[in-house]
Amino acid sequence: MPKYESSVFDNSTDGMKEQLREQQIQSRDLFNRICKERQCHDCGAKEGELHVPGCDMETCPFCFGQLISCGCIYEMFYEGFSRDKPLSGLPKEVYENGVPEDVREKWEAELEKKGRIPYVIRPFICVRCGIHYPDLFMVPDDEWEAIVGPIFGTNVVLCRECYDHVKVLMEGGDT
Ligand SMILES: [Zn+2]
Ligand SMILES: [Zn+2]
Ligand SMILES: [Zn+2]
Repeated sequence: MPKYESSVFDNSTDGMKEQLREQQIQSRDLFNRICKERQCHDCGAKEGELHVPGCDMETCPFCFGQLISCGCIYEMFYEGFSRDKPLSGLPKEVYENGVPEDVREKWEAELEKKGRIPYVIRPFICVRCGIHYPDLFMVPDDEWEAIVGPIFGTNVVLCRECYDHVKVLMEGGDT
């Protein structure tokens, strides 16, 4: 395993400290701007309004996860759905091209019925380093539970850098 180096909390070089400080200032500025403008930074919805469909920041009213990436639509309309199966247990067509229009419409009706969740200012902060609005990335659920769960609980935000760092530590790698 290559030796892992984290720039977060790493005191070894001034350059790295500088870089972290820079990131923290930028994220702080973004959050200040959001509080001032009271607008979703992704889709522009005002606080209290619904997000524009497809916005990264919209929460699913069924699982409270990120709406654009949660599996609720598949769970509701595709019986065999499971992330562990090949093609996630979905028809090939759906796996490759996404859900057809009629299913999408039914899903949207279910969302309306349940009540879509409006935008409310809510800082997304990496629980380890305090960066605001880190870029989102995908990790399989079971991996997230195994790596992040024991330390932070599963319903948290981690930046990629901290995730990679924690992963190495949890897997007992040398750092
Ligand atoms: Zn939005
Ligand atoms: Zn969901
Ligand atoms: Zn972090």
